[in-house]
Amino acid sequence: MSSQPSPIAAASAVSARGVRPQDARLHHRALVLSLVRRHPDSSRADLARLTGLSRVAISEVVAKLIDDGIVGEHGQNRKRGPGAPARALHIQGDARHVVTVAISSADTVEGAVFDLNGTLVSAVSEPRNGAVGKDALLALDRMLQQLLATAEAPILGIGISASGIIDTQGIVRSSSHLEWESLRLREHIEARTGLPVSVTNGVTAIGVAEVASGAAPDDLFLIRVGNGVGAVTIVNGAVVHGTNGIAGEFGHVIVDPSSDQLCQCGRRGCLEAVLAVPGLRARLAAASSADARSQVLQDAGHALGTALAPVVTALGLANVAISGPADLLDGTLLAACRSTLDARLFNVVAQGLQVRMAESDESARLRGVFAIVISKELGIA
Ligand SMILES: [Zn+2]
Repeated sequence: MSSQPSPIAAASAVSARGVRPQDARLHHRALVLSLVRRHPDSSRADLARLTGLSRVAISEVVAKLIDDGIVGEHGQNRKRGPGAPARALHIQGDARHVVTVAISSADTVEGAVFDLNGTLVSAVSEPRNGAVGKDALLALDRMLQQLLATAEAPILGIGISASGIIDTQGIVRSSSHLEWESLRLREHIEARTGLPVSVTNGVTAIGVAEVASGAAPDDLFLIRVGNGVGAVTIVNGAVVHGTNGIAGEFGHVIVDPSSDQLCQCGRRGCLEAVLAVPGLRARLAAASSADARSQVLQDAGHALGTALAPVVTALGLANVAISGPADLLDGTLLAACRSTLDARLFNVVAQGLQVRMAESDESARLRGVFAIVISKELGIA
């Protein structure tokens, strides 16, 4: 699969199409911010070279960003040219803060404030105490108020990660863990705070964090194994949402029609019934020998490989990452998944495929929604 078009290619494509000047300005602003973030201490001349834009155009964009306080300049750039010394540019982290909250199937509500550079400013964790429905929404509101009250910079936006099927309008279509149905979460939080809000499924947030951290390239299929099993597909740096946010309900693909394992969706033989953490741990605990335990993990890995093979082939993916408890997933299970894929995939697909544990940690959902907020509000890629 081809990689994401370079920012330079994207910029020339826009100017070639003859878009409106204000659109071009917004695009140039996002492009400059992305480059300054990726290459701190760039000079205006560096940016002109990297983008192919004129020095005048770059100076105009940079002047506005400095005016807004988002970009700062300091010292002398390493490269000295004739005339005035080149000034090194950087993102002013404290110019704005981003507030993030994650409410997942785990019995906690996590919150964090990041600066524009993604540096953690503060973090809070509160027990959810089994709260669902209206009470879960109240727990989320309380966490947000607590974080907003301590914010020391203007807030760029709020990012929320929640478990469930969430569409691109920020409507939680259905969340079985939180017992939310058709909840207009983005509108609710925007009305309460007056700030721009992004709402994302937790697994999607983990995948975005994986790509944003540089741990994965722009094409990634990430499977999250927890109390349920979900997935996210990222192609050319963009999340595939599917109709009404339905993409990623990977756990309810039936991998073994003859299975007697009952899934929480009411059917038998779903991937989730074989792979989700609580069931897997219970079957391991019930296994009477090391061989029996190994078989449990092999069966789960085989089921995962079976479900993955057509997805990997259809999308031409080279990168699959598995996120979840390493003591369960890494080792026997991952190896069984890999060997099933090798047995089922066309040679050329299998050879180019990397299957590995994700680098995500407990803060991945929060870092993922942070990346989504700065991408949406500032266009930073
Ligand atoms: Zn199911």
